[in-house]
Amino acid sequence: MSAEAYAGGQINILVVDDRPENVTALSAILDRHDYNVVAAGSGTEALKRLLEIDVAVILLDVRMPGMDGFETARRMRQRERMRSVPIIFLTADAGDLRLVDEAYAAGAVDYLVKPLDPAVVRAKVAVFAELFLKAEQIRQKEEERREIDRRRSAALLAESEELFETTFQEAAIGIAHVSPDGRWLRANTRLCELIGEPVADLLRLRLADVVRVEDLPALQDAASRMLSGGEKLRTIEVRFAPRRGADVWVRMTMSLLRDASGTPKRLVVTADDVTERRRAAESQRFLSEASELLIGSRDHAAALAGVARLAVPRVCDLCIVELAGEAGPLAVADVDEERGAAIEQERREASRVEIVRDARLHADLSHADGTPAPSGLRERGLTSAIVVPLIARGRALGAMTFAVGVRRPYSAADLELAEDLAHRAALAIDNARLFAQAQDAIRVRDEFLSIASHELRTPLTPLQLQLQRLLGVRQAGLIETLPPDRVRAILARCERQVTRLASLIDDLLDVSRITSGRLKLDVEYPVDLTELVREITSRFQEEAHRASCAIVVRAPEEPVEGAWDRLRLEQVMTNLVSNALKYGAGTPIEVIVEDAGDAATLIVRDEGIGIAQEKIAKIFDRFERGVSARAYGGLGLGLYIARQIVDAHKGSIHVVSEPGHGAAFTVELPKRPLSSGTAPQARGAHG
Ligand code: ADP
Repeated sequence: MSAEAYAGGQINILVVDDRPENVTALSAILDRHDYNVVAAGSGTEALKRLLEIDVAVILLDVRMPGMDGFETARRMRQRERMRSVPIIFLTADAGDLRLVDEAYAAGAVDYLVKPLDPAVVRAKVAVFAELFLKAEQIRQKEEERREIDRRRSAALLAESEELFETTFQEAAIGIAHVSPDGRWLRANTRLCELIGEPVADLLRLRLADVVRVEDLPALQDAASRMLSGGEKLRTIEVRFAPRRGADVWVRMTMSLLRDASGTPKRLVVTADDVTERRRAAESQRFLSEASELLIGSRDHAAALAGVARLAVPRVCDLCIVELAGEAGPLAVADVDEERGAAIEQERREASRVEIVRDARLHADLSHADGTPAPSGLRERGLTSAIVVPLIARGRALGAMTFAVGVRRPYSAADLELAEDLAHRAALAIDNARLFAQAQDAIRVRDEFLSIASHELRTPLTPLQLQLQRLLGVRQAGLIETLPPDRVRAILARCERQVTRLASLIDDLLDVSRITSGRLKLDVEYPVDLTELVREITSRFQEEAHRASCAIVVRAPEEPVEGAWDRLRLEQVMTNLVSNALKYGAGTPIEVIVEDAGDAATLIVRDEGIGIAQEKIAKIFDRFERGVSARAYGGLGLGLYIARQIVDAHKGSIHVVSEPGHGAAFTVELPKRPLSSGTAPQARGAHG
């Protein structure tokens, strides 16, 4: 109800009468502060008034010129707005039954007969006024309730919209709306993060503007399938290419919203970051390819260079492989070849390869974090690096360096991958080296076997010859005629060959003792080294004579005594002196004994052929020889056995030599090397 219709809390009562005096009289009767009597002089006017105001009751005169009361009532009943307003007919003709019927037929609820009784008029009007008020109150309550409902639903709606907006914005997955022609319409925070654009900038772009060119065909195919109605939902994996920073792989799901008529309205796009998953898968692929390279090749240098090439650009922009003890890198692979060459050159000039023992992650090369960063990378535009050692059986064999420029910086996951790769590479290097060593050992053993058979054969031939000579003489029955000196000479020659054979066999037996850890010292005290030296050198006089060597002994007058294994020391001296005679034939030989307090020193020096520098480290090893078997006989065991014996005495042996200028072997022996009489397990038992 409008304010005018029900103003100031007054109830409208419409009086319809063509006579003003009647209106006045009724107004007087109904004069109450809560009534507002509205007058209408005709049916037409009444209908008009009723369009403007709500009334509680209508007092309608039956007899009016023009449209009479009944006609007016009928018209009122035809109108929705007025149909239910109660009408009390006023008539001067109470006795006219026809009138009464007509009144009710016209929809009156009551009638009054003139002259009016004010009390009756008031009572009847009051009933309708009361009804009207009640109805009005109910209506107001209803209105209020409706208002409350309306406000509540508005609040609920606002809340749900806010909830939707928050969910949309805060979702951990990127969500966006894209128009059918590919423009971004709406995007949440996560999506903007993935693309690396603030939302305002993003909304000026198209979907295709932020996707890597290579992935556009897949995107366009998916979008057109959606729009042509073929598919409801489509998932693809594409890369967002942010203006700054690394590409982001996303799993993108598209679905299509249509309006009521079925026209495509917008694409709903969700995007989830799968960079890490793809990176892990790619890492695994790379690792297995690299492993194949490493396992498939015995040439570890070539395999490592292959791995470096494989790593660029898949896991790095630059890969350097360095091996300990080398003068420069083994391999450098770089996306920028010129830069790679410069880095390789620089490292080669630095000449020594620095080998780290711990893996290092330099996530940001421009930010010093205490650990020294690999040199020469930051200056050349590389921003992040990893250095991992190549460790096998506890030994650092080398290192691998990986570096990137304008890409996602390295993380702990990359470090793990690099360590895994380095582990495999180190194993491959170690295996290749072990294989080479094993091959070397086999070669040395085969050489030894051929030398040994030759060496064992050498004394046999003259021995056989001498014996055949004796037998021949005897068969001819001439043995008696042979002068005793000849017989002695023949037997002496035989004995020398037998001794030679025995000594070769002893050497072989010693090697087998040493390798099986059965070399035992029989230590006695005192053993005088001076006396021993004199005895041994005197045994060699004849051989020295044959070799045109003069052996000079320089030793203190007093004994130089220690707790040693006499026979084993004799063996050491014998080996050194016989080598001096063999390799220094025709030159003077010096054998020197010195007393150095707690230790004794023995030096055997000749001026013979000497030893090439590169051989010096090896000649004390089993079967190792520095000369050709054709030029000099020998099993390559003398120095090996000597060193084992000296080691067992806790002493040391070394040589100083120059090719063509002789050799000086020095043995240092502690005077009391052992508490018990047994030797520890000999070193180098496996050769
Ligand atoms: P062999 O003499 O049977 O070859 P050794 O173990 O005694 O075996 O010596 C190993 C190698 O050391 C020899 O082959 C030789 O090249 C070198 N060598 C040993 N003594 C001398 C020496 N006095 N002068 C030069 N070379 C020597």
